[in-house]
Amino acid sequence: MITSFRAKAIIGIALIEALLLSILIVSVLNFLRDSNQQQLLRHAKTTTSTFAAMSADAVISHDLDRLQSSSDSLCHNQGIVFVRIVDEQQRVLVESGSTEALQAAFVITADLSQTDSKVFNASQAIEAGGVSYGSVQIGFDISYLKNTLDTAEHWSLGIAGLEMLLVALFSMTLGGYLTQQIAQFTQGAEDISRGDIGKQLRVRGHDEIAQATKAFNRMSLAIKKSHDSLEEQVKAQTAELNQANNKLRHLLGEQSTLLDNQSVGIATVQDRKILWCNPAFLKMLGYEHLADVQGISTQRFYLHEADFIDMAQAYQALTDKEVLRRDFQFVRQDGRLIWVDLNGSRLPCENQSLWVIVDVTARVEAQAALHRSEIKFRALFESTSEAIFLLDNQGLTDCNQAALKMFGFQSKQQFCTVTPAELSAPSQPCGNEATWLLKQKVAIAQQQGSLRFDWLCKRLDTGAFFPAEVLLSLVKYDGQTQLLASVWDMSERMAMMQEIEQQAKTDYLTGLFNRRAFIAFAERELEHARRYQKPLAILAIDIDFFKKINDSYGHSVGDLTLQKFAVVCHEVLRESDLLGRIGGEEFAILLPETDAVQAQETSERLRKCLSECSVTLPDTEVSVQFTVSIGITLFSGGVSDIDALLNRADTALYQAKHNGRNQVVMGSL
Ligand code: GH3
Ligand code: MG
Ligand code: MG
Repeated sequence: MITSFRAKAIIGIALIEALLLSILIVSVLNFLRDSNQQQLLRHAKTTTSTFAAMSADAVISHDLDRLQSSSDSLCHNQGIVFVRIVDEQQRVLVESGSTEALQAAFVITADLSQTDSKVFNASQAIEAGGVSYGSVQIGFDISYLKNTLDTAEHWSLGIAGLEMLLVALFSMTLGGYLTQQIAQFTQGAEDISRGDIGKQLRVRGHDEIAQATKAFNRMSLAIKKSHDSLEEQVKAQTAELNQANNKLRHLLGEQSTLLDNQSVGIATVQDRKILWCNPAFLKMLGYEHLADVQGISTQRFYLHEADFIDMAQAYQALTDKEVLRRDFQFVRQDGRLIWVDLNGSRLPCENQSLWVIVDVTARVEAQAALHRSEIKFRALFESTSEAIFLLDNQGLTDCNQAALKMFGFQSKQQFCTVTPAELSAPSQPCGNEATWLLKQKVAIAQQQGSLRFDWLCKRLDTGAFFPAEVLLSLVKYDGQTQLLASVWDMSERMAMMQEIEQQAKTDYLTGLFNRRAFIAFAERELEHARRYQKPLAILAIDIDFFKKINDSYGHSVGDLTLQKFAVVCHEVLRESDLLGRIGGEEFAILLPETDAVQAQETSERLRKCLSECSVTLPDTEVSVQFTVSIGITLFSGGVSDIDALLNRADTALYQAKHNGRNQVVMGSL
């Protein structure tokens, strides 16, 4: 039951008021009663005492008339109801006053409040000389007192009633005002709850209610603000949600289309049995309808039962967030084998899983082919005699056995720790520094795709340099672009080339320069002499009567003679002197920085040594001696060439022959 605030206020205030007024009325009435009683008692005592004293003589003298007279006169006093004088034995001596009151039993009134009588009985002993002769009994009229008290009581109650009424009215008014405000709040709150957000109450006055109203209004505005912002948020979120819903609907449509048109097979599995699959799954495994595979065990697809068992174990250990991925060989409906890439994950439904399969047969076969090709390539790579290694920006990454052998390494690991510069002679034949030059070569190879060049390499074990030909080719390896370096050791070929070159320059029998090489080198010396204005001598030498040696001892002895000639020349001449066989048994010698005197002396010394040497015939004790004729010509700064000088020397030689052989002739300039 709801008791209204106004009723509560009225009842509360009335109760408090009633309590306070009751206390007040009771206190006032008690005070009035007490003070009247005291006054009455004092009055009664004084009157009875005085009357007892006045009557004492008449009692003692038993003068009843006087007693009657004084009683009557006392009775005439206002407020005295009766007067009685009794003797010691309580016999009435005289009495006067109201008969009704006199007939009533006389009981001394002790407490005014405890008597209903309108008479207050008081008594006083009549004494004289310590002897009691009776007593006076006087009845005082207390009806006026009672009336006064009753009037006071009635007035008090009346005033109290009126006050309570006024208080009730006031409290009703106050309660009404307060409840009106509260009702306003209630109405306001209900309006807000009904949707009248931002409801404002009328503010009256400046009291606490006005403050509360203002606070209510502020709260209402705050609610409106937050409601508005919430509404906006809700609107935005609803829009987003609608968008997301549309997107989701779209995606679901797409997904459904995708699932049906996927090239990957998708299936849901429960307890290792097919629940559902897409057309690609059916096609991949050679089935036509979903009903053909629904409910069948997935074991049917595995080529190896061990794979089916392994998969079960792996799936047991699979968490909700993981995806199980394996490659297996599956058996199609028609018995054909295919390789599938199987991806499995748990679905939220119990014991259900989602499997996505991709036919990777082509990839696996390609990988196998690639693997075989790699093995083949590796075999080729390792077995080839040319050194091959790979290098990227970080350095060397791989090499073959030939590279280890060529560069003197123990292992591939060791090889891959060095830099390409460490495989090179620090200074290359062209005079450039290997590190710098190598950078250039690598840059060009990367730009052009390949580059072939000569390089002076270095072995790690011995530190020896060896010439090589290098081919740098840009290749794709391990998904990266690298440089493949093929290195051919050119040492042997170079030696051969040098030999061929040497052979082209020298005479096979004597080891001296042949005519062409002699002229070429002699030209260079001539140029040098011309530039630095140095003297130079050319000797033309011919063995005397050589035909005779051939004829007498055979051609081979002739050959031995020619060889002996070369040996002696080497012994006699300087390192810097050029020797050439320019005909059968005709020779030319160039003496750099040699003037006429020196040339003459050298020629003489040579002629002498040759004439003193001998050729021992094979398997015999016989030795053959020979002589030579020498023609000298000098270069002394004039414009000339080797042919001209040789011609001049020949002329001098001819002169020597003509003069009798075994001699030296200085030609004229
Ligand atoms: P001369 O004193 O005038 O020079 O007399 P000669 O016998 O030396 O005459 P000539 O210079 O005409 O003869 C050269 C001979 O050298 C002719 C040739 O058979 C011989 N001869 C040339 N080349 C060789 C060779 O390689 N080996 C040998 N054994 N004999 C050679
Ligand atoms: Mg000769
Ligand atoms: Mg000759």
